Formats: sequence, structure tokens, C-alpha cells
Amino acid sequence: MSFLYQKKIEVRQSVDVFVAGGGPAGVAAALVAARAGKSVFLAEGEACFGGMGTSGLVPVFMMFGDGVNFLAGGIGREIFDKLNEMKSPKTLAASRMGCPAELMKRLYDRLLTEAGVKLSLMTQVVDVVKEGNSVKQLICHAKSGFFAIEAKMVVDGTGDGDICAWAGAPFEKEETMPGTLCSLWGYIDYERRQQNPVNVHEQLMRAFEDGGIFTVNDPHHSGMFRIDEHTAGGNMGHAFGIDALDEQSVTEHLIAGRKMMPEFEAFYKKYIPGFENVTLLQTGALMGIRESRRIMGDYVLDMADFTARAVFDDEIGRYCYPVDIHPSKPDPKLYAAFEKEFGKTGRYGKGESYGIPYRTLTPRNLDNVLVAGRCISTDRKLQGSVRVMPGCYITGQAAGMAACEALDKGTDIRGIDVHVLQKRLLDIGAFLPNFKRA
Ligand SMILES: Cc1cc2nc3c(=O)[nH]c(=O)nc-3n(C[C@H](O)[C@H](O)[C@H](O)COP(=O)(O)OP(=O)(O)OC[C@H]3O[C@@H](n4cnc5c(N)ncnc54)[C@H](O)[C@@H]3O)c2cc1C
Repeated sequence: MSFLYQKKIEVRQSVDVFVAGGGPAGVAAALVAARAGKSVFLAEGEACFGGMGTSGLVPVFMMFGDGVNFLAGGIGREIFDKLNEMKSPKTLAASRMGCPAELMKRLYDRLLTEAGVKLSLMTQVVDVVKEGNSVKQLICHAKSGFFAIEAKMVVDGTGDGDICAWAGAPFEKEETMPGTLCSLWGYIDYERRQQNPVNVHEQLMRAFEDGGIFTVNDPHHSGMFRIDEHTAGGNMGHAFGIDALDEQSVTEHLIAGRKMMPEFEAFYKKYIPGFENVTLLQTGALMGIRESRRIMGDYVLDMADFTARAVFDDEIGRYCYPVDIHPSKPDPKLYAAFEKEFGKTGRYGKGESYGIPYRTLTPRNLDNVLVAGRCISTDRKLQGSVRVMPGCYITGQAAGMAACEALDKGTDIRGIDVHVLQKRLLDIGAFLPNFKRA
């Protein structure tokens, strides 16, 4: 059964740039646009900014650089440096790449507030209203009910490409990687761990042979990542078959993820020296989603570009993280293939990277919406690389700046001079080694 539901709703504000979703990509876009003097509204469905890195408890940053160059220059560099300044000496000594969620939350709050972004937490964007190929209003839902925000330009930082898909951009979503409910663990004795350097994967295989702990023998165990003196973030347990766009599927896997945690606690206590007293402190408020829609833009960045270390005239950044596609089943053969790709065939040497063209941020069929973050226009393999947080800062800041450039020139997302966009990105610290000054 279905029925027509209509409601008159208030247009609460009219802004230059609306950013949907406040993960790494959305935050970067909002910061850049607000600092360039635009009025920016940032709607985030959860209680804090940061997406997977805070609500999802993803514990560490992957690569900011290629071993020679710092690729996530600009907002990525600023966040990395400021976060490390906030860490106590002991936390910093424990991990420079760790991103403790509470520090991240406060850092994002401060930067966004100082930049003058209009912030709305616990606010879901639920629909769009279009005129021609442009989104004119974003329909939001929050505790106060439904309301609309009018915007000239829109950045989709939802991770799932919600805005682009609802507005009519094509997307791909075939077999997707499993999700993971990340977790926080305390009471770890890292001194003892260092004195007894057992291999976690070998111990996991032992535990599978011994039996009695795990319900599913999943050989792909990313493990515990140290983030503080006695604390680690867990990236453990796969939600096979999850559909990020179906709340029933997400509900089922959140419950299953929480149910799995005592198994990991028992494994670490028994098999990993230093973890005898390890205790689960928390699981993520958000299910960890690695992959859902990939929005199709004017260019689809693919594995051939990765292999070619591609250079593009319109590149807005370069990135290098290996192709990291978690197998969709707990199958040792698939895991062996994953290890080969992640460790060898899909991995660069020092100083190597691929360009990210501006056209991966411009969704087909849309004139005033840019996409940023893990759902930009790529094939599956490339998504397995660009999806990590430093990559999302790169595409987020470029989307935010492109929105500004379009507004300043009074044009749409395709009417801008990409050379000028690149110059503006260079001015905020982006890494664009192939830029040729006119
Ligand atoms: C289990 C797991 C482990 C990972 N490990 C690492 C790692 O070790 N290092 C690393 O760098 N990266 C890691 N990643 C990848 C990385 O965390 C994400 O890909 C990255 O955060 C994506 O950034 P994003 O801004 O595109 O989206 P997200 O971080 O997903 O943020 C999207 C935000 O938008 C909000 N949102 C979504 N839809 C709406 C809507 N309709 N209205 C309002 N708000 C909305 C969400 O609440 C969320 O806050 C991992 C990811 C997962 C799932």
C-alpha cells in the first residue's frame, strides 16, 4: 500500500553552499567554502562531525603521503597537524596516525565554528527539489520536523551519494565490500606486547584450529590499532552482505557486530600477550560502511589510471593508497587474492601517485551539485584506494573550492576555469605538482 503525503514546509535559510554530510569530505568542503567568504550550511545526521572517523570509530588515518610528498596538503595537512598538537605527549608517542574520536570531534567543532559554517547536527537530508538540472532546495528532517534550505551550490558528502542519486545522477552499486562495526578497547599492556611480538594472523589461525571462540572463521582480520598509551581501536569483524542503503540490513548488522565483540575480546585475551586484560569500551554509533553507491561523473577514474600513475590536465589532487577491497565472503582463497592485490599488485612504490581529475566530482545530469569523498566517480578498484580519509579531504576541499569558483564566476560546475580552481587550491596548500603557472 502507498499513499500521497503532502506537507507545507518552511524555507529556513538561503545559502551559497549546502553541504550534506559532515564526514572528512563534507567538513573539508564546508571549511574551504566558508573561509572563502561563502555562506555555508552543513547538515549532519549524527551528533558530531567526522563521519566514519568519529561516529564510526575508525581508529587511524591511512596514508597522507606517498613516502616522498604529503599528498593531502591543505585541509588534510591542517587537520593532521592540529590533531597531533591536541594530543598529550603520551598519546602522540603512542601513535601519530591515530585519530582519537573525542579529539577529532572537538577539532572539527572548533574549525567549523571558527570558519562561520552554519551547523546543524542530528539533521538528515531526506530529499531534494530540482529545477531543470539544478537542486534548488534540500529537504531536511530534524527534531523540529521537516524544513528546507535553499542553496545555489550543493556538495554531496554523504558517503553514499544520497543527494546525487535522489537528484537523478547515475550511479553504480554492484557487489560491495563488507562493512565493519569499529570498536574501542582499553587496558592493553603495550610494553608486554612489544616484549612478546607474536603475529596476530598466525595466532588467529591457531585459534581457528583450536576452535571454541569464533562463530565465523574469517581470515581477514585488520585488527587492533594503537591510538593511546593503553587504548586501541578495533577494525575487526565483517558485516558480509550488508546493504548500506537499507536500514533493515544495517540494523541487522549493527546487532550482529555488537554480538561479535566478546569473541574478539576472548581471542585477544587468550592468544595475544599484553592483551590479557583487554576490555571493550565502546562500539561505533555508525555502522562502518566501506562501499555503497559510486556516483558516475564526467570521468570515471579507474584501475588503468592507477596503473599508469595517471596525470590529468584537470587534476585537483593526487593520491596513492593501495587498492584495499575487502573480500565479500570469509573465504581463504578470496583472502589470499586480497593479500596479493593489497600488498603487491595494487600498491605503489615510494613517490608514486595517481591524479584525481576534477571531472570525478561532477555528477552527470547535474549542474550545481558536486560529489566528494568515498563515492566520487570511480570504478570499484579505484574506490578501494581513494575511499580512505586523507583521500576524502583531497576531494572534499576541491569540491568546496569548485563551488566557490562557480559562484564567483556566476556559472555552473562545468563552466569554471579549472586552471583557476587549481590555482586557488594551490593557495590553500593542495599538492598539484603538474600545475603549470600561466
Ligand atoms: C570499517 C572501516 C575501516 C576504515 N579504516 C580506515 C582507516 O584505517 N583509515 C582511513 O583513513 N580510512 C579508513 N576507512 C575509510 C574512511 O573512514 C571512509 O571511507 C571515509 O570516512 C569516508 O569519508 P566521507 O566523508 O566520504 O564519508 P563518511 O565518513 O561516511 O561521512 C559521511 C557523513 O555524512 C552523514 N550523512 C550520510 N547521509 C546523510 C544524509 N542523508 N543527511 C545528513 N547526513 C548524512 C553521515 O552521518 C556521516 O557523518 C575505513 C572505513 C571503514 C568503514
